[in-house]
Amino acid sequence: MHAADDIRGWLIDLDGTLVCGGRAMPGAPAFLEACGGRFVVVSNDAEHTPAELADDLRRIGLEIPADRIVLAGAFALDETARRRPGARVLMLAGRSLARHARARGLRPVQTRPDIVFLGRDRQFSHARLALAANAVRAGAELVVANPDLVHPGPNGTVVPETGALLAALLACTGPVAYRLVGKPEPTLFAAGLALLDLPKRVVAMLGDNPRTDGEGARRFGLRYVEIADGAFPQIQGETACRHETSVMALPA
Ligand SMILES: [Mg+2]
Repeated sequence: MHAADDIRGWLIDLDGTLVCGGRAMPGAPAFLEACGGRFVVVSNDAEHTPAELADDLRRIGLEIPADRIVLAGAFALDETARRRPGARVLMLAGRSLARHARARGLRPVQTRPDIVFLGRDRQFSHARLALAANAVRAGAELVVANPDLVHPGPNGTVVPETGALLAALLACTGPVAYRLVGKPEPTLFAAGLALLDLPKRVVAMLGDNPRTDGEGARRFGLRYVEIADGAFPQIQGETACRHETSVMALPA
């Protein structure tokens, strides 16, 4: 256990790290301040655009510019638009991401898609599952925002996430190859690191989930700092945290 003295930039998870239950974690504004702008939020969010999220975060007291936010859903669409410009996409996602897809030149369609995009689709239904499964069986590429099955809801409940919809889809298609963008895959870590413009050895991932934040950081070659009980790491003698946070060194 030691303070994070030699870390010069941070990739930071959102839910459970900066935000919990729709509120900013008590130490979050001070921690971001102490980072001095050298951070990028990296989240498996498969529902919002960075601009929308920046607005939401501002309302709860977190000033994070949209260009410092990398979200799995929006990023997957950005990447899809670069790889396959103008592609026809069956969107299993909310309206924000459908608008985002159009803004990137992709064409949301219901029939004969080139790509099936799977995000956090709150309108998921038997009919949408049938469309998606048959499109994939007919050869459409499958792009999945994140592998998360659920996230915690109020009073011990769970909220289904993109991975749960993927499980339903794969139950219909059988095993198929698909492009997975969110943590623990390296894509978002690479995008966040590129925005920081710092070498890997002085950057750490701060998160609350060892399976996504921790495992992804390990695979990508970044240190992982786990936040527990809302305790943020110390930066340059700042006392924004209540407890010391463990910093796991990379294996040699
Ligand atoms: Mg989290």
